[in-house]
Formats: sequence, structure tokens, C-alpha cells
Amino acid sequence: MASCVARAGLAARLVVVVALVVALVLVSAGCGDDASESAETCGDASAVAATGWALSTIDCAESQDTGYRNGEPFAITVVTVDGEKVERETANAYYTMAQAADRDGIQLSINSGFRTMAEQERLYACYVNCNCNDCNLAAEPGFSNHQSGHALDLNTAASGVLGWLNARGAEFGFERTVPSEDWHWEWWGGGPGGGPCGVEYAGKSLGISGQSYPIVSRGPVTVAVGETVTGWVKLQNVGRGTWKSGVVWLAPIPRDQASPFASPSWQSATRIATPAADVAPGEVGEFALDLTGKDEGESMLSLGWVAENETWFADGPRGGGPADGYFAVAVQVVAAADMPDAAMPDADPPDAAVSDAGAADAAAPSTPTPARDAGSTTAPREERDAGPDPITCSR
Ligand SMILES: [Zn+2]
Repeated sequence: MASCVARAGLAARLVVVVALVVALVLVSAGCGDDASESAETCGDASAVAATGWALSTIDCAESQDTGYRNGEPFAITVVTVDGEKVERETANAYYTMAQAADRDGIQLSINSGFRTMAEQERLYACYVNCNCNDCNLAAEPGFSNHQSGHALDLNTAASGVLGWLNARGAEFGFERTVPSEDWHWEWWGGGPGGGPCGVEYAGKSLGISGQSYPIVSRGPVTVAVGETVTGWVKLQNVGRGTWKSGVVWLAPIPRDQASPFASPSWQSATRIATPAADVAPGEVGEFALDLTGKDEGESMLSLGWVAENETWFADGPRGGGPADGYFAVAVQVVAAADMPDAAMPDADPPDAAVSDAGAADAAAPSTPTPARDAGSTTAPREERDAGPDPITCSR
């Protein structure tokens, strides 16, 4: 029992405080997260130059509108292609197709994309009254796939366009769905993916539940030289790319500079951890964050994320945050002799204290530990430590 008491004391000293500079502002701009860039088109300038004609222009600056599916409204995100509003993912698919057509010497363009209710009502009146819009067929307002964001009217009157679409449109997920209208093509998914709009890699803070550590305002983590504390941070994938295990890494900032807090569990002194499994858009990724005391003194460990050989999350146009150092940990490293529990045998699992919330709270009630989650850190701790499970001592 004595060792349990001692361990509880150690726990109190090993409180790890993570500074979460809260207020994560996710940059959701389109092709670039730089405001000055968002109004520009992000077309492939080299393709334009190579062919001598204008590839479809795409402006990834996003706006929100109201789409309709089967008469029911929903929020829709649109960008601008060839001057027309187009639902963002349909725009990505279209632009990818337009680039392929361009390589085949065919110039695609959009004559009509997303339609508001007012626009559909006008076209429907034209159809019903046969007094405008060439009396073209128009769906009942609220029921057009131009309102759901899936339909595009393309320039099929131009030479070669219809033949190219018939031959290759399906490769890109496009299908002609109205027999009487050569120009009406719909996209409901499929194709090679890609496209310039939307941020590929972006993470969203989960606030206080997104970390195993208390927030930094509680004071710095105190860790003795040579000791390791364990923990984790979580981030929700709000980009359109999957975070592949072994590709996306939590990393110390400044980038690619060896961190003085590198722990044995780190991949290297410049890469901390990668998710155990791929993290799809919308899912939450967990990144282990162990810290080892090395040089005495107090300092910050700033954090960032990187998709290896692709982009840092903080960098546009492919990354949409968090910014470098948005997450940070204040750490105070003290000499082992300064720790009251320093005489404890090395066999005592030093990192156990961090997740042993009950013991820490009992020993230091003035140190709130709101973000601890002993349950979720139990498994990795047991894998790493040969010592007894400290949880049994604190309950
Ligand atoms: Zn149409």
C-alpha cells in the first residue's frame, strides 16, 4: 500500500498541462486559405497556356445557399465555374473531367449549374407558358437536380463536345439523364476524385474533450529529467482527404526541428505519432502524445500536423488548419532529485501518474484535471509498462 501512496504523490507532481490555445479557426476557403487568393480562379494556368483556349475557370470561394431535394430544402455549398454557381463537389468532379477533355482537345463549359428556387420558378414558368427559355423542359420548382446541385447543362452544341461526353463522361461519374436534352448531365459521385475546391487536410479541435491533459492555464506540466508522461490529443477530420496511418503525423513545431521532449514512443525527434488506423472525413483521429523530460527548465511544446510529402495542415491551399502552435503544451522539466518521489524505484511506471486522475485529484485537490480520461489511456499504458496497474491503487 505504501507504494500506492507514493505513486499517488508522484501523480500529483506529474500533472501534465496542455495549453490549448482554444478558438480554432478553421480556414474553409477554397483553393487557398489566403483571403487574397480566394477571389482568384484556381484553374490550371499551364493547361490554358498549352491549348491556347480557356479551360473552364473555377473560383473556389465558397458561398452557402439553399438547395432542394424532392421539394425539401437543405444547406448547399457552391463555388463558381464558368461564371455559374455549382455545388462544390459537383464542381470538383466537373473540373477534373474538363481537364481531361482539354487534354483531348475538347473544351467543356457550363451553361447552367446550381439554381436557386427563384431561378427554377422562372424557368418553370417559361416551360409552362412556353414564352421564354426556348420553351425548354424545366422541372417543378424544388424538384430539379439543378436545385439539388447534381445537374449541369453543358455546351454540347459546340463541336465535338457531345461525342466526347458520350465516350468519356461516365469515367468521371457524369451521366446524361434527360433523353431530350443533350446538354443536361448529372453527377452523383464516382470518377477519379480530386478537383481544386475544398480543403483537403483540416482538423477541428474537440475542445476540452479532445485531449488527455488539463488545459495549460492550470500551469505547466512538471516532469523529471528522464521521466516520461503519456497522453493524447484528438482532432476531427474536417477536410475532404482521409488521414492515412503512417502519412498524417502529429509533429513538434518549429517544423522538422528536433524536439527536446521526444519520447521513446515517438517516430523520431520531429514526428510524434500517427493514428493507428486511417481516419476518414468526419471521423476523429487520436494521436499519442508522450513527453520525456530532458533539459531542466520550463518551455512550450508547440504542435502541428503534417501529411507527409503532401502538406502541413497549416498551409493552404491543401491544408486548412489548425495553425502551427495552435496546440501547445507548457512543460517544466526538473532535476530528478527535485522530485519528492525521486527515490522511488525505476520500476514504478512514471507515465501512469498522468492518467491516474483519481490519485492526482486526491493528492492535489487544487489542481483540477477536467480533460483527463483515464479509461482511454489505460490500454496504451499497459502495453508500455510492466508495472502494476496504478488504477487499482486509486479506486
Ligand atoms: Zn439541365
